[in-house]
Amino acid sequence: MECWHCERPAHAVCQFCGRALCKAHVQEKPYIVHTYRTAGGQYKAIVVDGSVYCGVCKPQEDPITLQDME
Ligand SMILES: [Zn+2]
Ligand SMILES: [Zn+2]
Repeated sequence: MECWHCERPAHAVCQFCGRALCKAHVQEKPYIVHTYRTAGGQYKAIVVDGSVYCGVCKPQEDPITLQDME
């Protein structure tokens, strides 16, 4: 695979969208691996800091509500 930005050989893949990246263009961003709700009704997230990010895609901060899934 080649880098999304410069088409040189890629070393990593964006954790969020799957675009390939070389070492020069790789960025880092916290990645939410998992969210859950505690018994007390609080939402918690397990986050990996420094995950590979392409700088192109736009991970949303908040989960979106899915309509018409029933
Ligand atoms: Zn590149
Ligand atoms: Zn991406």
